[in-house]
Parts: sequence; C-alpha cells; structure tokens
Amino acid sequence: MRHYRIAAIPADGIGPEVIDAGLEVLDVLASRAGFSLTVDRYDWGSDYYRKHGVMMPADGLAQLKSADAIYFGAVGDKDIPDHITLWGLRLPICQGFDQYANLRPTRILPGVTSPLRDVGVGDLDWLIIRENSEGEYAGVGGRAHRGLPEEVATEVAIFTRVGVERIMRCAFDCARARPRKHLTVVTKSNAQRFGMVFWDEIAALVAQDYPDVTWDKELVDAMTLRMVCKPRSLDTIVATNLHADILSDLAAALAGSLGVAPTGNVDPQRRYPSMFEPIHGSAFDIAGQGIANPVASFWTASMMLEHLGERAAATALMDAVERVCAAGVMTRDIGGSATTAEVTQAVVAALAGVNAIG
Ligand code: ATP
Repeated sequence: MRHYRIAAIPADGIGPEVIDAGLEVLDVLASRAGFSLTVDRYDWGSDYYRKHGVMMPADGLAQLKSADAIYFGAVGDKDIPDHITLWGLRLPICQGFDQYANLRPTRILPGVTSPLRDVGVGDLDWLIIRENSEGEYAGVGGRAHRGLPEEVATEVAIFTRVGVERIMRCAFDCARARPRKHLTVVTKSNAQRFGMVFWDEIAALVAQDYPDVTWDKELVDAMTLRMVCKPRSLDTIVATNLHADILSDLAAALAGSLGVAPTGNVDPQRRYPSMFEPIHGSAFDIAGQGIANPVASFWTASMMLEHLGERAAATALMDAVERVCAAGVMTRDIGGSATTAEVTQAVVAALAGVNAIG
C-alpha cells in the first residue's frame, strides 16, 4: 500500500479548526483511495512561544525533514508581533527547505458569488506563482542611528540569476501544463530599473525554451486593473514575493473569499518536503467559534495529494467540495450559514457517495 508521512502544524487562531477538518477528510480519502497516512502533529506556534520563548524548537527543521509533506494551518497572534511569529515558524520552514515556488490556484467555485459583476464559474481560473525565496522578503536591510532624528532603515530587494531563472522555469512549466498555455509575467520595470529589469530579461531568456507557451508582461499596477476588468484574459501568472503576496489576496477576494484560497510552498526539485497551507491567516475575529470556512484547507489538502502523486484522490476531493458548495452548504464568509463541522460532514458524505477513487 502507498504510504505517506504528513507533518501537521495547525499553529494559531483558526489553524487547528481547519487543519482538523482537513485531516478528517484526508482520512476518509486515504481509506477510499487505497493509501495510508501517518500524521505527526506538532504543537508549534504562538502558544508554544508563550511556554518556551520560541515558535518551534531549534531542531524543528530536522524533525520535519523526513516528512513527505507539511500541512500547515495559520500563524499570527494578537499579542505577539508578526515579525516574531512569521519569522519564527513559517518563513524558516519555507527558507530552510528552499520552497522557492509558492503556487496559488484561484477559481470561482460553484455556488460562490464573485464580487465582480457578470463573472462566474469558469470566468476566473488562475494559477499565481509567487517567488518565495528572495526578492523584497529576502530579509536584507538594517537600521542605523536608532532613536535619533537621523535614523535610517533599509529593506533591500534581492534578485539572483539562479532565483529568478528557477521561478521563471517553474512558471513556464506550470503554464505549459494548463490548457491555455499562457503566462503573464508581472513586473515594475518602468520604475525599478535594476532588479525588475533583470527579472524581465531573464523571463525573456527562459521564454525561448518554451515556444509552445504564449506570454505577456504586465506592470503590477496595471495588473490590478486587469484582474478586476478582464479576468478572462489571465491564466498563469508569475510575480515577485511582494507583488504576488498582494495580488493573491486580491485574487482570493475576487474569487469569493479568503476562506477558500489554498497555497503550496513547493520545492519543485523535491529535495525537501513541500508545505501546503490555506492563504488566510489566524482570523482572530472568528477563532474558536466553529464557523471558519474549511474549504481553503480542503483545497490545500487536494494540492498536497496532487504533489504526492495521488491525483485521483486530489480530484475526488475537489469534486466533492464543489458539489457541497453548489448545494449551498457553505460558511458565512461565502454567504451560507453552515458551521465548519457541517461543511466537513457534507464533504465526507459526498466522498462516501463516490463509487471508486483511483
Ligand atoms: P495574515 O496577515 O496572517 O495573512 P490577515 O490579518 O490578513 O492575516 P486573516 O486572518 O486571513 O487576515 O483574516 C482576514 C479576514 O478574513 C477576517 O475577517 C477573517 O475572519 C476572514 N477569514 C479568513 N479566513 C477565513 C476562513 N477560513 N473562514 C472565514 N473567514 C475567514
């Protein structure tokens, strides 16, 4: 029997609620599709920080390294600054395991209403690829003259030839694997004349190896307009760490809610485990109430299954989620009144109704 080892890190806020929902569904899928899962659960996160003064133990990466994939909830706490929570848990995993491609599929699920007029299922179907290892979030910079009137702070965006080329190759590969075979490269080379011009040059070089993929370039400001006004003109999109961070929140909102949007922090070369997580954060305003939308977590689980090679189970899960949404079993954020548990049970029941998986 095929067997996978999953490291689950539910962490903060609604993270544990949506990861538990996802694990319940994964358990049903495994037994139906003929594979088995061992789930190692880690209690790292903000509560761990309150007890131990760190978000995860010093040997955290070593503990995760043998996992086939990491299933991550959310990180962030009302009382602990983001630079401690984020830089203490999520980013060290992304960087330590060189998960340089952040894949963010976005589409409108049946039954979900987009805030865009006349845009429905099939009209907005994108894969955003975010450079996840350098750029504006490389962590390079510093502060001098602290507390004095002449205090200065720098935040330097880093673009390396290796870093840009590998994310462009990943983006062209992803575009090639989708029916439309079209890639949009997001840039800001009109105003940022060094890093962004370099980004554009490498995109053009890599494009030569993909004659079957069409591509265009869009300035990040114009991109926001295009996403809203011409969503059908886009398919696969590649952008820097910062640009894609912002654009993918917009994408999630246009597709109906942050509560449905998944992401994968992937090492395309498979040297290390990749990490799959909903895009949303801890959502303190609804944590503990049992009303968090588990769909992002299910979609995330589906991406993880695809990455593990369990394509039939991945498809069966998304089919089940779509049928449940289409039937109107949805949480409040997308216009329904169901609880997390009710949506989860509906997806489990939909999976039980499938004749065979795989
Ligand atoms: P971060 O900075 O960590 O990404 P954030 O502050 O941008 O987090 P979230 O925690 O994702 O924001 O929450 C933004 C809004 O979206 C909140 O009102 C929250 O309740 C809502 N939201 C996020 N995820 C979900 C979900 N799964 N179900 C329902 N509502 C959600």
